[in-house]
Amino acid sequence: AQGQQLLKGPMKGFVHVYTGNGKGKTTAALGLVLRASGAGLRSYFCQFIKGRDTSETIALRDRFPNVTVEQFGEGRFLRGNKPSEADIELARRGLTALTAAVSSGDYDLVVADEANCAVAAGLFPVDELLRIIDSKSENVELVFTGRGADAQLIARADLVTEMAAIKHYFDEGQSARPGIEE
Ligand code: ATP
Ligand code: MG
Repeated sequence: AQGQQLLKGPMKGFVHVYTGNGKGKTTAALGLVLRASGAGLRSYFCQFIKGRDTSETIALRDRFPNVTVEQFGEGRFLRGNKPSEADIELARRGLTALTAAVSSGDYDLVVADEANCAVAAGLFPVDELLRIIDSKSENVELVFTGRGADAQLIARADLVTEMAAIKHYFDEGQSARPGIEE
């Protein structure tokens, strides 16, 4: 990849998991996309469950030519509810797109935002994520985010960070704000 020539030779790609109840999981993945862009690397950033534009998807589409953004949710999926056929079908499409992204040679960094939540919600089994890890090109850096990461995914990953919610203003009634949480 062109970008990797800026760095020292071809890189081995690792598997990251950002999980836990604290703020920073999606932000961490976006930080990696930002850093990768600066190095000339190409990123694929997809989101499960989410289906509407947020400040980050707008910024990536408008200002980051080396980033492809896709969403595979209805955007109205609620925690605890049984997923609909439409939710499941969209998530399946996401898995197909991810499978292509990790082996196409088009991307150096691949992010599956809220993939952990998709597993926890029963949209697909964790085996699907393990299969994507198996099928990835060696140089691809692959990132999964979301609360409640499956133990099998944690066992398989090379880097796992748990964001701990020591304090969160959400608990004081402050909902998500554009530019800060969404
Ligand atoms: P960020 O995108 O800011 O890095 P995150 O990816 O770590 O956050 P998510 O689990 O994706 O966090 O949560 C997204 C939204 O959930 C936040 O915008 C917040 O408003 C809301 N939220 C935060 N804490 C809770 C909670 N304890 N229960 C339910 N919703 C919460
Ligand atoms: Mg998130």
